Amino acid sequence: MSHDEFPTDELAVVTCGLPYANGDLHIGHLRGYIGADAFARALRTLGQQTAYVCGSDMHGTPVAVNAEERGVDPEEFALEWHEQYAETFPKFAVDFDNYGHTHDETNTELTREIVRTLDDEGYIYEKEIQVAYDPAADQYLPDRYVEGTCPYCGEKARGDECDEGCQRHLEPGEIENPTSVRTGNPAEYRERTHKFFRVSEFADYLTEFLDGLEGTSNARNQPRQWIEDGLQDWCITRDMDWGIDYPGTEDEDGDDLVLYVWVDAPIEYVSSTKQYSERVGSDEYDWEQVWKGDGEIVHVIGRDIIQHHTIFWPAMLEAADYNAPRGVAATGFITINGKGLSTSRNRAIWAKEYLAEGFHPDLLRYYLTTTGGLQQDVDFSWSAFQEKVNGELVGTVGNFLYRSLLFAYRNYEGTPEVEVSEEVSERIEGAIGEVRDSVNGYDLRGVGQATTRLAQFGNEYIQRNEPWKLTDDDPEAAAQVIRDCVQLAKAVAVLGEPITPGKAEALWTQLGEDGSVHDAHIEDALEAPPRHFEEPSELFEKIEDDRVDELETQLEARIEESASGSGSESSTATDETESDDTDEGQSESMTDEDDGTTASADADTDDLEPLLEDRIGFDDFQDLDIRVGQIETAEGIEGADDLARLEVDIGFETRQVVAGIKQLHDLDTLPGTKVVLLANMEPAELFGVESNGMVLAAGEEADLLTTHGDAELGEKVR
Ligand SMILES: [Zn+2]
Repeated sequence: MSHDEFPTDELAVVTCGLPYANGDLHIGHLRGYIGADAFARALRTLGQQTAYVCGSDMHGTPVAVNAEERGVDPEEFALEWHEQYAETFPKFAVDFDNYGHTHDETNTELTREIVRTLDDEGYIYEKEIQVAYDPAADQYLPDRYVEGTCPYCGEKARGDECDEGCQRHLEPGEIENPTSVRTGNPAEYRERTHKFFRVSEFADYLTEFLDGLEGTSNARNQPRQWIEDGLQDWCITRDMDWGIDYPGTEDEDGDDLVLYVWVDAPIEYVSSTKQYSERVGSDEYDWEQVWKGDGEIVHVIGRDIIQHHTIFWPAMLEAADYNAPRGVAATGFITINGKGLSTSRNRAIWAKEYLAEGFHPDLLRYYLTTTGGLQQDVDFSWSAFQEKVNGELVGTVGNFLYRSLLFAYRNYEGTPEVEVSEEVSERIEGAIGEVRDSVNGYDLRGVGQATTRLAQFGNEYIQRNEPWKLTDDDPEAAAQVIRDCVQLAKAVAVLGEPITPGKAEALWTQLGEDGSVHDAHIEDALEAPPRHFEEPSELFEKIEDDRVDELETQLEARIEESASGSGSESSTATDETESDDTDEGQSESMTDEDDGTTASADADTDDLEPLLEDRIGFDDFQDLDIRVGQIETAEGIEGADDLARLEVDIGFETRQVVAGIKQLHDLDTLPGTKVVLLANMEPAELFGVESNGMVLAAGEEADLLTTHGDAELGEKVR
């Protein structure tokens, strides 16, 4: 199945993964909502009639657990966050056509209707399964109420997802060594009857679906692998009372059985579209035409929820006889100063913090979209932000607009009365083509860069033609150059609208245009601007160095404060549908297996890991900053069976390191021991403790490496 290029004659809907209504919004969220907003705007600029909808995810254990911690009712708790989100998004020019929530009547009704259809069509069956249960709390432990070990990769995992390891969705009963989040007690398994959706029957359908799916490549490749590994049916009910009741049943014990949050969450995409449709009237926008007809459905999601959107969701839509998504774009992760964004460590840029600093939302929009597009990982630092703003928005775009429009105003009181040149109109047509191709390739960076390059061309054009030298000698040539520049400025407004809508609107007004640039069509970039306009002002303001220093210092202090404060706080506190805490791939045990270099001569080599065939150069070895250190403190980490927190003096400073040696050494005897430490290991966070280096050890017993002469602390191993 291949699709006609955007714009098509069909209605389109763009959605973004629902935020769990359980905590403050941060840059990790904003990245997705801004990206999806820019994509929806870009589609509209191409002439595609598009609705951009979303809603808060009110249900599920992420909300219930947090509400319980605060001792409030989950509905009240979630509604408060919902209202805050609905207020915050527009401040970043994230303008949803509808922003609902999963607990409202529209979604509750529609969810029940769809589940009833699945049931009527024979796609749902009952099965007895083992469910984690906390006898002390007398409570079943669905999803995030339980933690343990991932059966697939062995990493620490939550009840429903292997968030720190292989990212797999986990079914109830799958997690090993289950522990209750409520009491910290080991959980027991009890038999319960639950409802299952026959996802396994959709393997062929989904394979074909993925072949035609547009969006980002990561959203196609991962699910192909999952299908190949064999699809399991999906448990769609939970033993909880917060959620949407399974239609028509209360089970025989009178216990509550609600739908798994991942059933009603994506249905909110449909419900929110329906609410929009009901508000504007179905003549204007008919939700059924989109969701039951041939509309263009595009989902923007976090990378951690690909499985839900490319396996479960399309299978559900197909089973209920709904339309299939056209595109799924899965955003990468966000790091802050090169380290994983962590809400529990306060290593994040918060939405309200950014707003309080008084930066224009378009600056962040521009940074995020032109750095990461929809798919790439984004690193944020205040200095990189400053560099992008000062270099591209102030230096290139702002500079071109101000110098050319000011010149036009002073010499012509607006747009000189000549036709735009062939060269410049061709250049604008080229930029239009770039934007079209970028939208069709789900390439937001391309959309942003097309505008910046156009402004860059404008700067070169004005520099090359030097109109200020021509006004006396060759006034016609001068008028031509400025006429061209005003046209380029108008094109910058039209093409830049999806990424920087506020600044584009201001520019539109400066050009004396009527109406709003938000309603402009991409071809308007070639239409003549109005004859007269007022004196322009500068659109972008430089960010000064000392401001950035201050922001960097604030951030560092905050992270440090949170590290020295109640560091043992559970990391389950604030996580979202959007990917955030991204210490991915860094949580391997610090001493396992990677020490094949110390095989002793008398060992039975059958038991040893084979030597690596691949040789490395001396330069590669030089990349490892290995130092002599001395353990100062060693203590176990609460809640972690194997991990110890060490403080290691390495001459220059004392490092906190997490090592998997709790069971293997008597921790009390370790202080004073000289060790060898890999100092430039990427920091990782384990059980809420930052590990800033790796103590080298050999073999399964974690035999600590040391020195035997008088090497001083901090000396390099070479
Ligand atoms: Zn795993």
